[in-house]
Amino acid sequence: MERGVTPDRDLAKRVLEDRPRDECGVFGVHGHSEASNIAYLGLYALQHRGQESAGIVSTHGGEQFGHRGMGLVSDVFSDRILTKLPGRHAIGHVRYSTSGESQLRNAQPFSANTDAGPVSIAHNGNLVNARAVRRELEGRGAIFATGSDSEVILHLLARSREPSLEERLIDSLSRVKGAYSIVMLTHDALLAARDPQGFRPLVLGRLDGAWVVASETCALDLIGASVERHLEPGEVVVLRRGRMRTLRPFPKPEREAFCIFEYIYFARPDSNLPGSNVYAYRKELGRVLAREHPVEADMVVPLLDSGSAAALGFAEESGIPYETAIIRNHFVGRTFIEPAQSIRNFGVKVKHNPISGVLAGKRVVLVDDSIIRGTTLLKISNMMRSAGAREVHVRISAPPTIGPCHYGIDMPTRRELIAHRHSLDEIREQIGADTLGYLTIEGLRKTSEGLKHGHCDACFTDDYPVPIDPAEQIPQLSLFRPVEEPSQEPDPE
Ligand code: SF4
Repeated sequence: MERGVTPDRDLAKRVLEDRPRDECGVFGVHGHSEASNIAYLGLYALQHRGQESAGIVSTHGGEQFGHRGMGLVSDVFSDRILTKLPGRHAIGHVRYSTSGESQLRNAQPFSANTDAGPVSIAHNGNLVNARAVRRELEGRGAIFATGSDSEVILHLLARSREPSLEERLIDSLSRVKGAYSIVMLTHDALLAARDPQGFRPLVLGRLDGAWVVASETCALDLIGASVERHLEPGEVVVLRRGRMRTLRPFPKPEREAFCIFEYIYFARPDSNLPGSNVYAYRKELGRVLAREHPVEADMVVPLLDSGSAAALGFAEESGIPYETAIIRNHFVGRTFIEPAQSIRNFGVKVKHNPISGVLAGKRVVLVDDSIIRGTTLLKISNMMRSAGAREVHVRISAPPTIGPCHYGIDMPTRRELIAHRHSLDEIREQIGADTLGYLTIEGLRKTSEGLKHGHCDACFTDDYPVPIDPAEQIPQLSLFRPVEEPSQEPDPE
């Protein structure tokens, strides 16, 4: 009962902003009479982590029932479809295609029948050796149905000689490298696992005696579940017959590497990640930013929703009033019809419109959480000047993004990242700002000390915690560009 709606990828390209993209969200529920409805709600709360496809697989202890589709959770599922997903156990996935094409066949959870029983998995992250493992499996006769790195895990699982699916999962995960937070449904258990470095989040909760697992706590909030704890890096949790068992089967790596961008931008501000509430963390970044890059101005304005906590922190620390001087149209989405070329120049105003009465004659501090290519910021700063702003000072609550992500976040290639190719002053000029200040890496690290775990900040530092060989990766499909190999080589220019 698959239902496919072909997404307008060109439209998505045009409408989406010049920003890194969220990756995927996973959800699981074990032992609840409304499992698929709970999974639906959980995915709804995780929608910000992926908007291209959604899927749920359920079971009552034998056969598995699945539905996957392209689009938002609310587009993919209806009451009628959810009634066809019976059982007390379910897993779900929302996807933004970091690996594999944007097609229904790549929508997760992936399912297979193995000699140890039916199994489905949903994966958040990106495996850095997926291509090498896939080549090896294909050499042994495996036939892949999707272009996704996640399918590699399913094939490893099907071919493992371990006796149980639980041991097979551990065996399979010990063969892959990189980022994974996974939920897996078997005929009698729900398993959840995080990679040894702990790149992506995964949290365990309780609801009416049932167990739930989710990428973020905001999903537990929506269904009224309590948070039990975050899974540890390298931990595998087995939920069977209402009981929880925890395993730590992998060698401890040299360092933990929780993605710091989850705190800065990706996760929902109402989520609690290990060590901090996301909103509180972002606000603190804004405070540090204000101390590092003070400026004389009349108002602090957040560029987008994700920049608002940092802007508030900046405003409080600097004493400059906070104003929402840009209004965002939240309803621009897949149904937006691109105007003809001749009238396309109003472009960015479809999504953001400045309030000229507030901006006229004012010195503005514009706060955002990242500059990727700089194109959106240029449009916004021009728009603010047209609305009467006298000065536009840009402050970024993260260090310059100089490298791509290989662990599941969609960014342009290194060459396309404005901070990789240009000096601070060149960037300032290109985005049309009077002054520009980025949070320093020291400021980021100091703020992150309170998280009490190691983190990855490779896109700011080039210090990749799991070694990268682009030839070993399945190329990430990106809305920024055609499929292209990420490069670690110095830019020849
Ligand atoms: S490279 Fe950047 S986006 Fe990717 S995991 Fe590391 S911190 Fe996160």
